[in-house]
Amino acid sequence: MSFRSDFPLFDDPNVHFLDSAASSQKPLIVIDEMAEFAAHHYANVQRGAYRLAVEATEIFERARSRTASFIGGQPQNLILTRGATTSLNMIAFGWGAQHLRAGDTILATIMEHHANLVPWQMVARRTGATVRPIPITEDFRVDMEALEDLLDPSVRIVAVTGMSNVLGTIPDLERISASIRRTGALLVVDGAQLVAHRPVNVSELDIDFLAFSAHKMLGPTVIGGLWGRSERLEEMEPFEGGGEMISRVEFEHSTWTDIPHRFEAGTPPIIEAAGLLATIEYLESVGMATVKTHDSVLTQYAWDRLRSIDDLELYGPEPGDDRGGVISFTLGDAHPHDLATILDQRGVAIRAGHHCAEPITRYLGVSSTARASFHIYNNESDIDALVDGLEAAVRLFGI
Ligand code: PMP
Repeated sequence: MSFRSDFPLFDDPNVHFLDSAASSQKPLIVIDEMAEFAAHHYANVQRGAYRLAVEATEIFERARSRTASFIGGQPQNLILTRGATTSLNMIAFGWGAQHLRAGDTILATIMEHHANLVPWQMVARRTGATVRPIPITEDFRVDMEALEDLLDPSVRIVAVTGMSNVLGTIPDLERISASIRRTGALLVVDGAQLVAHRPVNVSELDIDFLAFSAHKMLGPTVIGGLWGRSERLEEMEPFEGGGEMISRVEFEHSTWTDIPHRFEAGTPPIIEAAGLLATIEYLESVGMATVKTHDSVLTQYAWDRLRSIDDLELYGPEPGDDRGGVISFTLGDAHPHDLATILDQRGVAIRAGHHCAEPITRYLGVSSTARASFHIYNNESDIDALVDGLEAAVRLFGI
C-alpha cells in the first residue's frame, strides 16, 4: 500500500525527499486540520469560560490523551512540550538540577544527539556531577559489557537514544533497563527517532522518561512530548514559571497546579496540538507495525543498493530489527556537502554534516557524513534516484 499520495510534496514526481530524520513531511490531513482549527476553532486554552475556549481546550487535551495512549501511557504522565530538545532540558533542569550532587555520574552513549548530551553537561557543571561516555561495539551497538563495568553506585542517570539519528542503531532498552535497575539509576530515553518509526509502549518498557517531537513523526513543528513515570514527575521541579502552571500566586511565592499542567507554563502550542491530534489519528490508521515494516524493507533495499557502489562506506549496524531507516555514509574522499549539492540538482534531498551528534561523527573518524533517512512516503524510486546521483558523483569526482 502506498501512502505517498497522502503527502502534497510528492505531487511533484521529481522530488526525492530523504531527510525525514531531520524533519518529516506532513500529510494533507494534518495540514488541513491545522488550517481548519486556526480558521474556525481557535482560542487560548485552559483559561477561557466561553464556548470557543472550552472547545479549544478539549481538542488540546484530546491531543494529549491520544498521544499518551499512542505510546502506551496515561494523559497525566504526558507533558506537551515544544519538542524533544525542550523535553530533555526539562528532565535535566527539572529533575537533574534538583537531585544530582557532586560525585554523581551521568552516563550517556557516545551516539547521543546533542539534545541528550549538552543539557546533561550543563547540569553536571552546575551540580558537580560528571558525564561519562557509554561506548559502542564495532558493530555500532551499545557496548553492554562496558555499560556493566561503568555501573557503580554513583550512577544516577543513564541517557540513551531510542534510535540513533546517525547510525540507525536501536538499543535494546529492555536489556539496558534490566542492567541499570540494580543501581537505582534513572533511564532517560531520547525517543525523537524511535517514536517516529517504531511502535513504543512505555508501560512495557522499564524506563523513567521518554522525549519525542511531533515533526519527526509526520506532525507539526514546535510540539512534542515528555512522558514521565509518575514518581519521577512528582520529583521534578517546573523548568519554567508563568501562566496556568500555578495553583496560587502570592507576591512572595507561589504553589504549583497538578501534573502535567504544572510543567506547561505560558501559552502552549495550540494549533500544533490540533495538528498533533490529526497526526496520531493518521499514524494509527496506518499502523506503527506498518511503519516499522516499511522502514525495514526500504532500509534493506537501500543498504544493498548503496553497498554496490565502490568506495562507499556505510556506518551503522546491518539492517535488522535493531536498526532504523537512517543510513549515514561517505563516498571516497568526496565531501558530504558536495554530494548533497550534486544530489540536490537531481531532486534528491539528503543531509550532510555531523547531524547534531559530533561525538559519534568524530568516533567514526570523519568530520561529516552524508545521511539518507526514510519515512512512510518513501519508496524504491527514491533510493534508485539516490544511487543514480551517487554514481554520477563517482564519475564527476573520478572516485
Ligand atoms: N534526538 C534525536 C535523536 C534527534 O534526531 C533530534 C532531531 N534531530 C533531536 C533529539 C532533537 O529534536 P528536536 O529538534 O525536535 O527538539
